[in-house]
Amino acid sequence: MQTLIDIKNLNMYYPIMSGNWSAKKEFIHALNNINLEIRKGEILGLVGESGCGKSTLGKAILKLIEPSGEVSFEGQNILKLKNNDIKNFRKKSQMIFQNPYSSLDPRMTVYKILREPLVVHGIRDKNEINSRIFEIVELTGLSEEDLKRYPHEFSGGQRQRIAIARALILKPEFLVADEPVSALDVSIQAQIITLLKNLKEKLNLTILFISHDLGVVKYLCDRIAVMYLGDIVELSDSATLFNSPKHPYTQALISAVPSVYKKDAEEIKLDGELPSPKNPPCGCRFHTRCRYAKDVCSQKEPEITKISDSHYVRCVLYE
Ligand code: SF4
Repeated sequence: MQTLIDIKNLNMYYPIMSGNWSAKKEFIHALNNINLEIRKGEILGLVGESGCGKSTLGKAILKLIEPSGEVSFEGQNILKLKNNDIKNFRKKSQMIFQNPYSSLDPRMTVYKILREPLVVHGIRDKNEINSRIFEIVELTGLSEEDLKRYPHEFSGGQRQRIAIARALILKPEFLVADEPVSALDVSIQAQIITLLKNLKEKLNLTILFISHDLGVVKYLCDRIAVMYLGDIVELSDSATLFNSPKHPYTQALISAVPSVYKKDAEEIKLDGELPSPKNPPCGCRFHTRCRYAKDVCSQKEPEITKISDSHYVRCVLYE
């Protein structure tokens, strides 16, 4: 499969505001030297506890924040783009946010919400605007009647359909979906997941799907990257990851959801909370919670080790 996005040595530091003027400036190291390829036409899942850097990585890939490193999209480093080139990149890559309640302008009808990105990108012909809007309304399971209504008149699931329609109106190639169903009722989640899966097939999309729900990720994603405290600790095709997780963190995450792993497997309890990214542990960032930790784990950052062509893990047990 062809690579659509190639991420190299991506780091993101957030400065922490302090009330004390004389205090030393502190930073949160949210992304720690991330290297990752996203392949054309795949759904890549990104999982991990909240606060591990998943959303930061999604935003960094879309240049919604300013990380250091390289993000190549179709061979062009998007972190170096300026002005019109950024605008062109925005056409090809879009984001769906977790909360459809806050991501839609309550003062605009659905028609205006869908028209706005087209106008911003220079499409002024009314026939073309209408034909694009009617096409996307049909694809996302909305109706033409819905175009006259305002976001508050819709249920959560319908609002997420509107958000998806808005993200797709410019015919992007790449979508970052950041926890797109976690604010929805469980009964509605399956409909939106199925919609995303169908849209990916019909429109030949590439999707980075960020989620903490392993059941959803298992159903939807071709490959999965597991994040812990700003690091990608395991990357694999979906079936292998769930059948044979290698990293102790992945094993613990999966064991907590028996419906997606071996039903009689013992749950692996993680000790303590996720450490603060302001002061991450030295060596392997997971060593403070790992049941296999050895002395070397607190001294040396593990290398990425290739287990097979589709399976990589960052842990000294496999080096
Ligand atoms: Fe555990 Fe050490 Fe592997 Fe980190 S490197 S996951 S601490 S065994």
